[in-house]
Amino acid sequence: MELYSGDINKLIDELAALPGIGSKSAQRLAFHLVNMPAEKVQRLADMMTTARQNVKHCKICYTLTDREVCPVCANEKRNHKLIMVVESTRDLAAYEKTGKYEGVYHVLHGAISPMLGIGPGDIKLKELVERLKGDVEEVIIATNSTLEGETTAMYISKLIKPTGVKVTRIASGVPVGGDLEYIDEVTLLRALEGRTEL
Ligand code: ZN
Repeated sequence: MELYSGDINKLIDELAALPGIGSKSAQRLAFHLVNMPAEKVQRLADMMTTARQNVKHCKICYTLTDREVCPVCANEKRNHKLIMVVESTRDLAAYEKTGKYEGVYHVLHGAISPMLGIGPGDIKLKELVERLKGDVEEVIIATNSTLEGETTAMYISKLIKPTGVKVTRIASGVPVGGDLEYIDEVTLLRALEGRTEL
């Protein structure tokens, strides 16, 4: 038996498919949306479409941006020989918030996870190796300290070592299982300063 009208059910299904939204939240949001003024719903829908169309990967570091080259890569004052490898644009934002990191980034868009069937070819590793053909002095691996993050760090270090570029890993001051995004700035800076060579 269908409890709600077909359209409400479809909306609930779409919302429930989003990360972090359970069926209860999906129902609450769906009812909220159908009760909102039509023009507000339109604005929200337009913004989603616009963001989806305009946001792309920076052609250098692959972070999400609406420009060809993101503001960090475009900044000549940054040290372009120092590349910090992070799992996501949100991790990049966490380090940018500290305002103390002078280098540039490389965003992998994920981590290697044999459990989830995510292999090295599924994240931006080829692109990282390609960047190392340029003038690079150090690669700082700042993947999360989860099993996936550590696996990825090990893989990257093995990949880069033969090229002669210095590879470091941020200190384990970052709690195990911790998402970089939720760690305070002081801890992030300490992890960065205490990085060790792999
Ligand atoms: Zn960039």
